Amino acid sequence: MKKKKANNTTPPITDTITKSNKRPRRACQLQPKPEPEPEPEPETTFTIGDIEDFKFRVEEVTEIRTSLLTWYDINKRDLPWRRISEGEANTDDEIDRKAYAVWVSEIMLQQTRVQTVIDYFNKWMVKWPTVHHLAQASIEEVNEMWAGLGYYRRARFLLEGAKMVVEEGGKFPRSVNDLRRVKGIGEYTAGAIASIAFKEAVPVVDGNVIRVIARLKTISANPKDKTTIKSIWRLAGQLVDGHRPGDFNQAVMELGATLCTPSTPNCSSCPVSSQCSALLKTKNDPSALVTDYPTKVAKVKQRHDYSAVTVVEIIENEQGKVNTSDSGSKFLIVKRPEEGLLAGLWEFPSVSLNEKDDLVTRRRAVDDFLKNSFGLNINRSSSIVSRDEVGEYVHIFTHIRLKMYIELLVLRSQDLHRKKNKGLMSFKYVDSETLATMGLSTGVRKAYNMVQKFRQNKSSPISR
Ligand code: SF4
Repeated sequence: MKKKKANNTTPPITDTITKSNKRPRRACQLQPKPEPEPEPEPETTFTIGDIEDFKFRVEEVTEIRTSLLTWYDINKRDLPWRRISEGEANTDDEIDRKAYAVWVSEIMLQQTRVQTVIDYFNKWMVKWPTVHHLAQASIEEVNEMWAGLGYYRRARFLLEGAKMVVEEGGKFPRSVNDLRRVKGIGEYTAGAIASIAFKEAVPVVDGNVIRVIARLKTISANPKDKTTIKSIWRLAGQLVDGHRPGDFNQAVMELGATLCTPSTPNCSSCPVSSQCSALLKTKNDPSALVTDYPTKVAKVKQRHDYSAVTVVEIIENEQGKVNTSDSGSKFLIVKRPEEGLLAGLWEFPSVSLNEKDDLVTRRRAVDDFLKNSFGLNINRSSSIVSRDEVGEYVHIFTHIRLKMYIELLVLRSQDLHRKKNKGLMSFKYVDSETLATMGLSTGVRKAYNMVQKFRQNKSSPISR
């Protein structure tokens, strides 16, 4: 059987499927953003024309604003970014600090739970209290601070956006339209900053707002459909309170997060239950449920991927030191491409696998990759100290279920030839102290922790 070779070049952004329905093996396989599978068309009870005709009556708007703001004033959660955004702001700098706090918190909150974000936000604001401080940071520092939050593109955009704001005078643009020109600030974030920090009467729409409005108006159209989202933006714009736009927007989101939840809404405690069409419908039709709104959309099927992750440790000795002034072990780490999943983060060398690849095939692929990419020809040297299978770890991304086979390969520096880094693929050798402080993704950190644990438990070396 012909041997498969590890691809030793920086992998392309897009993925391909071979005729045998197997992906070709390559290094750093994770970076392609998977194309979501087309979602099934939902059954809707409204045509496009119908949903575009929806609107709140004037008296409904007044009642909803009053009820929601009263409820919010009493029930809002005490969150660190709210303490900043609700504080006194008499100068431009103080208003900018509000905008900055809203921006950082909103970006962190995307795809992440509030409880998780609190700690990250507090540490972030101590390290970079203003947009000017953040603009001075390096991407390594930002990734380090972000490590564990996931979706690292968000961190990079925060940094790039901060640099842009500072380069253009150091003040946040004061309107939703101008805010949208800042790198990484989209329609939602611009609306949040403009309404909360600058009191511009503009709406925001996230998953919570879509759910609340869909229930208030019994909109059963596909909530992911562009036409639906556009209509919800329009309806949210009708509702937003002109005097307290930031509080109102936060009130709708707070309602969706705490009472009008996806599967167990607490309608008996809801401040807008009298204006809720979905609740009214359940009273007239016993078979109806408020959770029928909005329509549930089938989840995108997860792709199953497999990779071999090799923690390569090089032990120093007097005869063959690595190219640094440190003594002690060094670990080989590789930088991921600047675009795609986990862009720009450092990781241990990894190659993609096919589902049925056994240990022999995996190691052959790893050996090819180490040789072709880093000049580590371990088969032709007496440099191997030990090579151990450490274990398996499954990491879940939004659309990918990645199974990693982790091994520890310890090499002696003596007689080991290594390529110099010529920029085609960025890599370096770092000691364990450096590794401990780097911004590594959760998957990479987990692999390293497994190796550490394995070492502690290892009673006798397993030879290759
Ligand atoms: S009454 Fe129930 S379904 Fe309607 S908005 Fe309130 S919590 Fe949501």
